[in-house]
Amino acid sequence: MKNLSLTGLSQEELVTFLAQLGEPSYRGRQIFRALHHRRLRSFEEMTDLPKDLRAKLNELATASSLTVESRFISEDGTRRYLMKTHDNFPVETVFIPEERRDTICFSSQSGCPLQCSFCLTAQLGLLRSLTAGEIVEQIIIALNDVYGMGAKTPHGTNLVGMGAGEPFLAFDSLMKALRIIADPSGLHIVHNRVTVSTAGVVPRIRELAAIDDRPHLAISLAAPTDELRNVLMPINKKWPLKELLAACKDFERSLKPGERFTFEYVMLDGVNDADEQARQLANLLNHYQVHAKVNLIPHNPAHPLPYRPSPPHRVESFRRVLESKGIDAFVRRPRGRDIFAACGQLAARGEANFSKESASFSR
Ligand code: SAH
Repeated sequence: MKNLSLTGLSQEELVTFLAQLGEPSYRGRQIFRALHHRRLRSFEEMTDLPKDLRAKLNELATASSLTVESRFISEDGTRRYLMKTHDNFPVETVFIPEERRDTICFSSQSGCPLQCSFCLTAQLGLLRSLTAGEIVEQIIIALNDVYGMGAKTPHGTNLVGMGAGEPFLAFDSLMKALRIIADPSGLHIVHNRVTVSTAGVVPRIRELAAIDDRPHLAISLAAPTDELRNVLMPINKKWPLKELLAACKDFERSLKPGERFTFEYVMLDGVNDADEQARQLANLLNHYQVHAKVNLIPHNPAHPLPYRPSPPHRVESFRRVLESKGIDAFVRRPRGRDIFAACGQLAARGEANFSKESASFSR
């Protein structure tokens, strides 16, 4: 099996690879541009390469390795792609159009090893971490589908690492993919347009703090106390709130002026959405003096998860309590719920088993 996908190589690595085949260095740069700027997915399409070079490349490597199995389009314009890796693991990517920009939500793992009780992806377990190439390809596939192969996008693209998996458990592939994606002669989506979300892998938060060229950070909290967070997000048993918040404070010290990080708080009806819990959350953040903002995400329900979204008045009341204690809090509007594309709904669902359920769960 030719496992070397050239989309996962940086421009320098590609130049080196081509040099080993006796090719001049401009060939490496040319192929990098073909893959990432022209967004070509096979060597056959690179008709400006000599035929024998294309044949040689085909023998040794692949241009890309993900295949799209199905595509679902939501009534709000959100698109979900269900793809497969060369070794048959599911990968999901979500394209979210907005008025002034697009957001692509990519996956870092197939499945997820964390057992967050409110998230459907958890039910898959970890299948495997994705490679850098598989992360980059998700962006290329979505952009080509929406705008056409290699076509210029009408406005900026933001990326969020909030799909399936825990990005900080695929840290090296993730960081490599982001460097490739930022390359000005390729996709040129710079780190500043990228947000990566973690369930709280503390050593990696600290590692990220030491990196200069890095994406924005979001941290999933979901509960204001260890007691509740242990139940909702078992990763809390390994890195409890005390350690997580201390790492957050250190991360905050590494931010550039005007930059902030985000907490995400999924709102579960009757579980973590009482005013008292908002006060506990505010006290927790104030105690550690972190000045992050809090995004409140109403739960996206999915059978068989045992939760319902908090009703809008509860979310609003929770938000007000946070604001009254000096915490900036925002309510996030769910996108793509009807096609199982919203946060926590990625579980490789195909057509047959989501269309009926989504109709009854989507509001
Ligand atoms: N593993 C990473 C990234 C994936 S989850 C993390 O935990 O941050 C991305 C976001 O979706 C997280 O904030 C998570 O709390 C939220 N989420 C998970 N399941 C959800 C659901 N069913 N409804 C709403 N948000 C959910």
